[in-house]
Amino acid sequence: MNFEETIKEIYNKIKDIEDNGHSATYIPQLANVSSENFGVYITTTDELGFGLGNCNERFSIQSIAKVLSLCLAYRIVGEKIWDRLGVEPSGSAFNSLVQLETDNGIPRNPFINAGAIVISDILISNLDNPKEDFLAFVRSVSNNTDLNYSSKVADSEKEVGFRNVALCNFIKSFGNIHNDPSDVLDFYFELCSLEMSCKELSEVFLFLANKGRKPIDNTEILTKSQSKRVNALMQTCGFYDESGDFAFKVGLPGKSGVGGGIIAIHPNQYSIAVWSPKLNKKGNSFKGMKFLEEFTTKSELSIF
Ligand code: GLU
Repeated sequence: MNFEETIKEIYNKIKDIEDNGHSATYIPQLANVSSENFGVYITTTDELGFGLGNCNERFSIQSIAKVLSLCLAYRIVGEKIWDRLGVEPSGSAFNSLVQLETDNGIPRNPFINAGAIVISDILISNLDNPKEDFLAFVRSVSNNTDLNYSSKVADSEKEVGFRNVALCNFIKSFGNIHNDPSDVLDFYFELCSLEMSCKELSEVFLFLANKGRKPIDNTEILTKSQSKRVNALMQTCGFYDESGDFAFKVGLPGKSGVGGGIIAIHPNQYSIAVWSPKLNKKGNSFKGMKFLEEFTTKSELSIF
């Protein structure tokens, strides 16, 4: 199919839609980003790329980074990782504390904040220099040595991250955090501050469209089975409590972040990244969701 024409047509249509959403401002630094940005970039498993709009401008990928931290922890720990967290959609807010009480400190999945905090704890226990080693992993996945954290965004979130502090301490009270909570949170905030453009994001995530291997040199990042499972989690838990709606309308595994980014994967075909900061009521990029819905409808390339 001709991706370029389809993407151009949908991009131009959605660009001018009046979105009545709002950028996330609870992290003060995110409020400084122009809400007019709108970019999209697709990379296919045979490494053809195409993008439009602000596709080369970096933004805060926020929760999208939780997929990458899961991948590194899964690579290191293997299936034992599931002793410490579940694989079910939570059906409640991404920063909710309530289920932890009944679930004895075991987060429902790795993509809600509680789950990503446990993954951060696992990485701290297993890496010599957690922040540096994680960044090296992310860079190696797409051979892009320019990728980096934003200390401004991480510091900004630290100042207001009381909910995450509460989550980490609450989980610690059940024994499911093994390190000092302040170290775990320091890593978690840094992780969420990773910055990438749509182009970089789609390139980094391409291994999940290629059975866990980097298409460029066939290096294994995850086993086939692990890659299948991470895609399954993105499908069921990647969009806060709008995951069902995303599966229904778009039909691809994916992950969103409060910076307005979305990555979506078509196993064996492509990875596509969209960025537009204004979020809908469920916290997902308003234009990003609309774009992907139209893209898989017109191209008939969803997994269903
Ligand atoms: N750093 C954000 C938080 O913990 C991540 C939120 C998100 O993108 O879902 O609140």
